[in-house]
Formats: sequence, structure tokens, C-alpha cells
Amino acid sequence: MRPSEYFDLSGCEIYASCEPCPMCLAAIYWARIGKLYYANTCRDAADIQFDDDLIYQEIAKPLNARQLPMEQLGQDEAITVFEEWMNKPDKIRY
Ligand SMILES: [Zn+2]
Repeated sequence: MRPSEYFDLSGCEIYASCEPCPMCLAAIYWARIGKLYYANTCRDAADIQFDDDLIYQEIAKPLNARQLPMEQLGQDEAITVFEEWMNKPDKIRY
């Protein structure tokens, strides 16, 4: 089994009791799952107090318009880590 096969679920399908929350939706995209079947809607979830609507609204906003203050720090140093990873010959791509 290739290492990328541990997290690449291309061709798989997932069944859920509800439309996924933003965190689970991100994981589904990240794993490249091919299709999602869901029962309840986000509206149904909001009706029982599982309301992720704020997160969906926040993601759509520019960073400086979000409720969560976000400030970029240390990019000059941090970008070197990305560059090292890009040059790593045995990296596992996802
Ligand atoms: Zn979730």
C-alpha cells in the first residue's frame, strides 16, 4: 500500500445523518471522497441547536472581516519550512 493510500479515499462514498459541518466537510474534500449521502439538512441541525451557519458565513468573508481577529506573523521564517518541504525528495504528496 502506498503511503498516500492511507488518506486518499478517491472512489469511496460516505453516508451521514446530516450535511457535514465545515470541519467534516473539509476532511471529506481532503480525503477526496467521491460522493456524500446525507439525511438531515444544515437547517434541520440548526433547529436542534447544532448551528454551523456562523462558520459557513465566516469562511466566505475576507480574513480582515471575520469575527476572529487574525494577524500574520513570521512569514519570512515560515516560508523556508514550506520551501524545505517542497525540496524534500521523499515527501508524501496528498
Ligand atoms: Zn463535523
